[in-house]
Amino acid sequence: MVFKEEILKRVELNGGWKNNHCHLDRAYTINNENLSRSQISLQEKWAMLRELKTNSTVDGILYRMMKAIDIQANQGVTYINTFLDFDKYSLDKPYKAFELAKEKTYEKYGNIIELECTNQTIEGVIESESRDWFHKGAELCDNIGGLPGRDKDNIDLHLTTIFNEAERYNKGLHIHVDQFSNPNENETELVLDKIDEHNFKNMVSLIHCISLNCHDKEYRESIYKRIKSTNTNIICCPRIWLDRERSETLAPIHNPITAVNEMLNHDINIGIGTDNISDIISAFSDADMYQELVILAMCNRLYDIDKLVKIVTTKLW
Ligand SMILES: [Zn+2]
Repeated sequence: MVFKEEILKRVELNGGWKNNHCHLDRAYTINNENLSRSQISLQEKWAMLRELKTNSTVDGILYRMMKAIDIQANQGVTYINTFLDFDKYSLDKPYKAFELAKEKTYEKYGNIIELECTNQTIEGVIESESRDWFHKGAELCDNIGGLPGRDKDNIDLHLTTIFNEAERYNKGLHIHVDQFSNPNENETELVLDKIDEHNFKNMVSLIHCISLNCHDKEYRESIYKRIKSTNTNIICCPRIWLDRERSETLAPIHNPITAVNEMLNHDINIGIGTDNISDIISAFSDADMYQELVILAMCNRLYDIDKLVKIVTTKLW
């Protein structure tokens, strides 16, 4: 028996795939020339992106966004939330392209596919020019984004800045946390502390949380309880961190993916995202939602079709 047909049918009956996290403004920027640099560190890739963003035009970004939207729409995706860079390199070009993409998508697909955006903080939120761009993005986008790993030396100030902004606009927060499958990371815990401090329940979505796997079970369970009690969403991007590099650091054995199977035991809200699509961060990703589901199922040993269909069709706030 092959389950693909049944799963696809059930996803459609449940309202279609929901892609809660991606970066459409950089989709399809991988090419033969930059492919050879796919193995550099993420921090080096962030720096490399500056050149790409400086050279991109609104029309060019729009063209690539529409390619990604068409590919997703053809699979039956009905919701996409994309991060958009807002910084001195990208300026507001991704946002302008996104606004045009929304118009084009509506002309082409009507109300079938809903698009939302979140501002990316890849240059951090502390240096003054970056902070100005963060404020601009926070005002314009549907959700407010965070990337505490970018301000590693001052994570508390990064989180305080994004939480203050989310309170100011009463918008949801989407925060990349614990990406590196490393026991030294505890960003999920730091965000939960901030949620308590700001009494910001029901407003936060955490993307990745992979490093939670590197901590012992007691720690993980205590974090899951806090995620549930604050009604915090979790966005699993199944494929994106499978290529974590080998390391001699010791940690509990795990796959580099969000611990969806353990989180489900706590009835936590979980959705999926594709994250980067054919760019320098994820060269071979082609936004194939069924493949994302298969990776999610295999890496979590989660072979329950009801649960899988619910996850992939859940739109998070
Ligand atoms: Zn991302």
